[in-house]
Amino acid sequence: MIVDKEHEHIENDPAYMGLTVNEGIVQPESVNDESVKRFLKHKRKRSLSVDQYVEGILKGDIPLLSQAVTLVESSKPEHQHIAQEIIVKCLPHSGKSVRIGITGVPGVGKSTFIEALGKYITSRGGKLAVLAIDPSSERTKGSILGDKTRMEELSSDPNAYIRPSPSAGSLGGVARKTRETIILCEAAGFDTIFIETVGVGQSETAVHSMVDFFLLLMLAGAGDELQGIKRGIMEMADAITINKADGNNIEKAQLARIQYMNALHLFPPTESGWQPKVLTCSAYQKTGIQEIWKTINDYLAHCKSNGYFQYKRNEQAKFWMYETINEQLKSNFYLNETIARMLADAERKVLSEEISSFVAAKQLLDFYNQHKK
Ligand code: GDP
Repeated sequence: MIVDKEHEHIENDPAYMGLTVNEGIVQPESVNDESVKRFLKHKRKRSLSVDQYVEGILKGDIPLLSQAVTLVESSKPEHQHIAQEIIVKCLPHSGKSVRIGITGVPGVGKSTFIEALGKYITSRGGKLAVLAIDPSSERTKGSILGDKTRMEELSSDPNAYIRPSPSAGSLGGVARKTRETIILCEAAGFDTIFIETVGVGQSETAVHSMVDFFLLLMLAGAGDELQGIKRGIMEMADAITINKADGNNIEKAQLARIQYMNALHLFPPTESGWQPKVLTCSAYQKTGIQEIWKTINDYLAHCKSNGYFQYKRNEQAKFWMYETINEQLKSNFYLNETIARMLADAERKVLSEEISSFVAAKQLLDFYNQHKK
């Protein structure tokens, strides 16, 4: 096979060991230093009213949008209060974008792909916001998706806005913040929203519950087990793309495409009536990107014509209402200082078999219900 050396990638060298797992990048203490600094600078000058934020967001003022997102991400009650008022006023201006979830294991090429598809979209006049949900930051503060040097071309594109994953809180909390950030980005005029996550666990379900289209990036020649992709994640995908279909990997990618197509045919039919597609691309050489965009648009046309698009959005809105209630109830309970003290004692009693787990839970909940404000 003749390989165009200019476009050859190091990963196509047979000596290259295939799937690379990037080391997590240590995330700074705060979510986004720059925007926090800007926020504080602004705050020193004057504190903005909710209406000033909303007006700025609707005009597409990116520094103001960033500050509002920082408020959404903050756990301080006074910030949350303003954030919720901003969201309420932005809601009527939201909902008009296409929300696309993108997942795949570290090293599959998510950033390279997002940059390639992102540039394709902005070059056609689209406005793109890239958000992320990164479960690694939850426990370790080490973030796989937080690397600021990623997506250099897109970062400097005036029609693209990239926001790393909020780092604090439970997955449910992080997902809620991302969902609220979608609303602000849509009000600011972004017509395409990407939500990136690492395809290794729970966060896919959260992302799936906030997007219209779910894209799974895969590699050829690495088994599903090796890629850590669970069957459940494949079942959620509206399309699978085999990335790195370039150089001496093209044939392997074509073969993998057929295998995945056969595997998908064995899954039960989707609720939307859409048959998930399997494609190949090279994010590095920017081939196959146009076909992916076309597939996304075909899907949207399909789901808008049979009513599934609106049905899914309604279901998602309901889901997020219950998620928010559950999250609030849980955090109110655990943040209660008396409960926090009682929990240690209850744990000890359960372990020494003085009382059963259920009695302990009931006593704590009864106490909480009687004493909560
Ligand atoms: P992520 O961890 O999923 O965000 O993956 P990255 O976008 O950081 O890519 C991981 C590695 O794969 C980098 O060395 C990329 O240059 C390489 N890569 C990404 N896309 C392609 C592709 O289409 N072809 C080849 N050959 N390499 C790629």
